[in-house]
Amino acid sequence: MSPVALRFDNSYARLPDVFHSRQDPTPVARPELIALNRELAESLGLDPDWLAGEEGLAMLSGNRLPAGAQPIAMGYAGHQFGHWVPRLGDGRALLIGEIIDREGIRRDVQLKGSGPTSFSRRGDGRSSIGPVVREYLASEFMHALGIPTTRALAAVASGEKVMRQQVEPGGILCRVASSHVRVGTFEFFARSGRVDEVRTLADYVIERHYPDCRDEANPYQALLLQVIDRQARLIADWLRVGFIHGVMNTDNCSVVGETIDYGPFGFIDAFDPATVYSSIDHGGRYAYNQQPAIAHWNLARLCECLLPLLDATRETAVEIANELLQVFPTRFESYFHPALAAKIGLDPDKVENARLALDLMDAMASGEADMTLVFRGLGELPAAGPEQDEPVRELFSDPSLFDRWAERWRQSLAAENRLDDQQRRAQMQRVNPAFILRNHLAQQAVDAAIQALDFEPMRRLHAVLARPFDDQPDAADLARPPAPEERVLTTFCGT
Ligand code: AMP
Ligand code: MG
Repeated sequence: MSPVALRFDNSYARLPDVFHSRQDPTPVARPELIALNRELAESLGLDPDWLAGEEGLAMLSGNRLPAGAQPIAMGYAGHQFGHWVPRLGDGRALLIGEIIDREGIRRDVQLKGSGPTSFSRRGDGRSSIGPVVREYLASEFMHALGIPTTRALAAVASGEKVMRQQVEPGGILCRVASSHVRVGTFEFFARSGRVDEVRTLADYVIERHYPDCRDEANPYQALLLQVIDRQARLIADWLRVGFIHGVMNTDNCSVVGETIDYGPFGFIDAFDPATVYSSIDHGGRYAYNQQPAIAHWNLARLCECLLPLLDATRETAVEIANELLQVFPTRFESYFHPALAAKIGLDPDKVENARLALDLMDAMASGEADMTLVFRGLGELPAAGPEQDEPVRELFSDPSLFDRWAERWRQSLAAENRLDDQQRRAQMQRVNPAFILRNHLAQQAVDAAIQALDFEPMRRLHAVLARPFDDQPDAADLARPPAPEERVLTTFCGT
């Protein structure tokens, strides 16, 4: 391939100095590439072989950046577990530049774990290899599910140690995002009364992500509506696959609606709507079923930031903001309900089908049934009668919970008479993954990485999860739920 010219065009670095602080990555001792996302590299117009070579590794580890890179730590604030924190910012990450990808979309290229910045407070600016492996697996799996997310371009072992609960090998993740602007980025300025900076940031986000808003009577109102819509869609996407983000603080809430900052996240095994994974989330603030309400709360914080741009009179601005916020619940349902109906193979346009799917989830909760296996298994069952139901009903501690539900389901299938079994199976397998990133599997991959710098479990898991909707008989061991002794009940913040 031709010599590499990384065409950086760093629009965020061109914003005034208050938006970021310039900072070079701190070099690491013996960087080693442990994973490279060739397909993503190509979509960015980067030569994967160059990335895997000496110069590429120098960039991915932060040891030597190519011409055109302009590393900055972005400033942001945030509400963490509901509490206001005026200064967070990139404490262990650097935006090294932006690249226009093959589709003409501007992408942030960020190094996470690249050393201290002016936002590091007492942190070391580094990352253990464990969270790097987790984020790589999770973000690429989310992408394979078709859910908006930041991506992982590469994972690097630094050859250095970091001090956590124990001494662990260090790692650096090269992350690619449509944007790293968060609700907390707006709060950084708005809550200290810097309206001009709020306007500059809003104009930046409109220009970069929502250019159609420019033509609206009030572009900022239009912007909020867009962000509300993206968040509504994102949360519906999370819930349909049993994803729990774990730390939905406003600083982890992207204004472009991508899943961002994989810390103590998890995917549900046995369905329980109150599931929490974060070890520090004692009140269940970020439980599975709280996520729509929390997204709504985060969006209210964003609306507050933009009040001065909505109207010159505060009361009018508040009225406008409240009206916008009211859109969220209905918008969320407009995404979630059809997705639910499709998961049980019924007409996505009928709300009663979504209710029926929710009843199945209630039955799963009572019967401690594995969410992924139940939905996937359902696609295999004939509409005619329950004779072949055993593989699904036995997933419930009390199979009669499923039997009662399946009777109603078959009545609906018969009444709709929309698809034959084969068509319905095909449609359901496209929305119900056979494989998810189960927590115990992620943990096994992390443990192998930390304990032995063994990345084989990570690679195998990644390869299988790249095709989550395909049956892969060779990987049956990765489809099954955890045995009781394998269960991971909490995960810690990824630092
Ligand atoms: P997070 O938990 O990733 O959402 O991070 C919350 C804040 O803590 C952000 O400002 C991070 O940059 C910062 N932070 C997390 N870990 C470290 C670390 N090891 N060194 C410096 N800052 C950190
Ligand atoms: Mg964060």
